[in-house]
Amino acid sequence: MLDIIIIGGGPIGLACGLQAQKAGYSFVILEKGTLVNSLYNYPTTMTFFSTSEKLEIGGYPFTTTHPKPNRADALEYYRRIAIAKELPLKLFEEVLDVKRIDELYTVSTTKSVYKAKYIIVATGFYDICVNLNIPGEDLPKVRHYYQDPHFYTLQKVVVVGASNSSVDVALETYRKGAEVTMVVRGSEIGSRVKYWVRPDIINRIKEGSIKAYFNSSLKAIRETEVDIETPDGTVTIPNDYVMAMTGYKPNFDFLKKIGIKLSDDGKFIPSYHPDTMETNLPGVYLAGVVVGGMDTHLWFIENSRIHAEMILQSIQQKEQL
Ligand SMILES: Cc1cc2nc3c(=O)[nH]c(=O)nc-3n(C[C@H](O)[C@H](O)[C@H](O)COP(=O)(O)OP(=O)(O)OC[C@H]3O[C@@H](n4cnc5c(N)ncnc54)[C@H](O)[C@@H]3O)c2cc1C
Repeated sequence: MLDIIIIGGGPIGLACGLQAQKAGYSFVILEKGTLVNSLYNYPTTMTFFSTSEKLEIGGYPFTTTHPKPNRADALEYYRRIAIAKELPLKLFEEVLDVKRIDELYTVSTTKSVYKAKYIIVATGFYDICVNLNIPGEDLPKVRHYYQDPHFYTLQKVVVVGASNSSVDVALETYRKGAEVTMVVRGSEIGSRVKYWVRPDIINRIKEGSIKAYFNSSLKAIRETEVDIETPDGTVTIPNDYVMAMTGYKPNFDFLKKIGIKLSDDGKFIPSYHPDTMETNLPGVYLAGVVVGGMDTHLWFIENSRIHAEMILQSIQQKEQL
């Protein structure tokens, strides 16, 4: 029997582990993929918008020679901490269910069964993409995740969306020789796009290097072309790849399955106490970006790493009662 089980080995799961270690509790971190799996699956070219000190966990300095770390820097930092602090990690072990039996939580995974008094759910939002729900979305040329621009050299690429991810994909693939068309639901490039990137994309569209259809949506995808509904009617253009950068969402089915209540306003925000992060299930806590429901832009590493301290404080208080 353990004191705490942490589900998810992302930055915030690790932060919770460090805090649990400091407080002297027995615990394990269960991660369905590799260490910091979401970060590992980010674009290889990705640079964080946060400066390195804002991504630090457990008070360990994150030193980089440039202010904003990239993916490789972050992988190095979190890996170094996990190994140096000997965090008890079980990688490539997915949690399938959590059940309360006789005052204890029983956690079933793809490999084993564990029991603990407290559970911390730090499962993030990067595993499940928001679908377009249009014909042809299941074709292999449609991608919701983007790794690297070189692959798209000399290809006709449609990028759906105007958020940070969409803009990065559009600019990077354009600069590696792709013919890029953006399909944007709104009337302009997203206002939350990084302030140093936004003028770049606006100018590339203005000069015609990247084509953009605003107030438009993708209607159908076929092997060699796509249909775009524009204010001037439906336009069909030749196409090799569709990059549907339409966002990601937490695994709501998993949260519901284990008994965590979700808001019914369409945002599916899980129920938790804002001071302790404890959910409607006693002794089950939420940590990190999973707390945002569909509002995935509200929480980052920067502002959710504090959850680790809040949760451990709450557990310590319960233990003193
Ligand atoms: C392109 C991009 C750029 C970003 N830039 C920044 C930035 O500059 N600054 C910033 O603060 N934030 C940034 N973010 C957000 C930040 O990276 C994420 O918020 C961060 O990963 C959140 O950490 P987390 O530990 O809450 O979730 P995650 O890192 O997503 O970790 C959750 C982990 O849980 C695992 N998991 C899920 N379900 C299960 C299960 N059933 N069993 C076992 N394991 C499971 C997943 O595999 C994953 O490893 C960015 C995000 C993206 C996509």
